[in-house]
Amino acid sequence: MKLTAAIKLLPTPEQAELLRRTLEAANAACDVISQTAWETKTFRQFDLHELSYTHIRAAFGLSAQLAVRCIAKVSDSYKLDKQTQRTFKPLGALAYDNRILRYTLATSTVSIWTLQGRQTIPFVCGEHQRELLQHQKGESDLVFGNGEWFLFATCDIEEAEPIETRDALGLDLGIVNIATDSDGESFSGDQIEKKRQWYLNRRTQLQKVGTKSAKRHLKKLSGRQQRFQKDTNHGISKRIVAKAEHTKRAIAIEDLKGIRERVRVKGPQQRARHSNWSFGQLRSFLAYKAQRMGVPVVLVDPRNTSRTCRVCGHCEKANRKSQALFCCVSCGHSAPADLNAAQNIKWAAVNQPLVSAPPE
Ligand SMILES: [Zn+2]
Repeated sequence: MKLTAAIKLLPTPEQAELLRRTLEAANAACDVISQTAWETKTFRQFDLHELSYTHIRAAFGLSAQLAVRCIAKVSDSYKLDKQTQRTFKPLGALAYDNRILRYTLATSTVSIWTLQGRQTIPFVCGEHQRELLQHQKGESDLVFGNGEWFLFATCDIEEAEPIETRDALGLDLGIVNIATDSDGESFSGDQIEKKRQWYLNRRTQLQKVGTKSAKRHLKKLSGRQQRFQKDTNHGISKRIVAKAEHTKRAIAIEDLKGIRERVRVKGPQQRARHSNWSFGQLRSFLAYKAQRMGVPVVLVDPRNTSRTCRVCGHCEKANRKSQALFCCVSCGHSAPADLNAAQNIKWAAVNQPLVSAPPE
């Protein structure tokens, strides 16, 4: 399974300048190679190499391997079609391979080739990214964005053999809590829900103020909120997958397309609360963690999971007394709405053949 680890480089001002000049030189070289490709109608990497390698190395001062990467980039860019001549942004991303880039995790540094030879540059990344980096394999993209330097490293994670499962752990995402399973366990807890609410309120306040300073605060808040969200999603998905693995159960979740329409949130406050959380991120974390542990993920049809009674099967909109409470109008069964939904999701999965199908 291929995943991308994103890390931020912390170059000195001189190193940042070198990175910038290297990227500019490489992209300028790409423009020249592209010109040659276009004029001679030569698009295969091997043929383009013959035509341009020596020339661009000399003209732009590129290392052998960087020249090869530039030729590959141009050749790739014509794969889609050969109808228009490709040009390259001065600071467009550049793919580095292991011959011109090396990660040293112990010191949190990379050794990266620039126009003035190799530079050792410190990097920072989250715990999860660091874990991924141990499986770094192949290319990494050097990217300049928002005044900062990043590497997007391709990591190849081994998948585990699927475990034998006879049962499923149903999972409801986002009716009341971020995640509730069919055993009735909620994975977010008061503190996280409170913090999530706090971010939402603070955002709404700042948006109302609308001054320059408020906008600045908003931007800062947004970064913090995203980190909080990501950490939380990592934590929640880790616990869910561990629980499923431990109890030898598949994980059942709703098919992605259903999520937004099913959660018919009432009022702007509720709506903001839902759109305010990245369930797509949580699902993708769940999917790859499950895959790594060999836990099957079963997708079920999301229709009616929130309005069907777990006990008698009666399905009616009126069964949902409120956002949080399910109360069957037919048999009187009442339960937290997210638990009732999680149990429906579980049974929908158990009643279909268990086939591992990770969500997109
Ligand atoms: Zn009922």
